[in-house]
Amino acid sequence: MQAFYERGVVVQDGKREIALDPKRGRKGSVVSHGHMDHLSSGGYMTPGTLDILKARRKRGTGTALPYDTPAEVEGFQVTLREAGHTFGSAMVRVDDVLYTGDFNPEGGVTCGRAEPEWCQTLIIEATYGRPSFHFPDKRDTESDLVAWTELQLARGPVAIGGYEFGKAQELIALMNRAKLDVAVPDRIADLADVYRQHGVSLNYRRTSELTEEERKDPRVYIVPGRWIRMLPDEASWLSGARTAYVSGWCTIYDFTRSMNLDAQFPLSDHGDFDDLMEFTAHCRPRRVYTVFSHATELAKEIVRRLKIKAEPLAATRRKEDALFG
Ligand SMILES: [Zn+2]
Repeated sequence: MQAFYERGVVVQDGKREIALDPKRGRKGSVVSHGHMDHLSSGGYMTPGTLDILKARRKRGTGTALPYDTPAEVEGFQVTLREAGHTFGSAMVRVDDVLYTGDFNPEGGVTCGRAEPEWCQTLIIEATYGRPSFHFPDKRDTESDLVAWTELQLARGPVAIGGYEFGKAQELIALMNRAKLDVAVPDRIADLADVYRQHGVSLNYRRTSELTEEERKDPRVYIVPGRWIRMLPDEASWLSGARTAYVSGWCTIYDFTRSMNLDAQFPLSDHGDFDDLMEFTAHCRPRRVYTVFSHATELAKEIVRRLKIKAEPLAATRRKEDALFG
């Protein structure tokens, strides 16, 4: 059995081969979640991710596979596990291989949390795979964000920027918890509607339905991240709002100067370096492949600190099958 990266993560065993998060739609593949760099048509995915796919891509198709329900796909036994990254996100178990996709052991308001499980081979994402990548306590950051927002609302509308799928809906849920009025543009509302269809309680209005008078009210506007850098014409009426940006990268970069913002909050839907190490240790794998972003650094640290064989997922297939060992 071998694993490699070829326009997606590929697990191969003899003549059997399965693609995970392929760049292009592929029948018999598996899709971990609805972020654009993982999303394609034609594969197996959770019912939530399938509906996100249909909302994001008009001709999106796929096969719904609920969490924790084994299915035979391309000759392998495939099971999807909660990944805690976004609504519908899944880790993919293929026989005794576990591919994490993007994941978060801390979970979120709109999804569960990723739990480690034993596997022979772990293929783990390395987005925050550098030892210096450390997030402050998630609950503290959430409280800081809500407190800042409440304070600013006394002065007028507040615009909070974040990625339009996952982060934006998580922000709606957080603001709902604090009983603050929320409005979002249609592109965020269309995706939030899918959450609601699946039983996640989110309350928001559409900016397209607000009257000119209502737009002046103190309210939280949750908008795509790029909107707070430069407002599109359709939202020019938001120009006086106080602004904040929410992303895990705020723990490393100061966007307040470069983007001229009032505040930033390091809230991430990924685990940080310590989470990646702890998760790996608890899965007790015999071999680890790291993938995406800081794969080389994470593999090095897994070997050094955990004494487990680890290397970045190779970009090409080997000629002969290499045993996982
Ligand atoms: Zn993602």
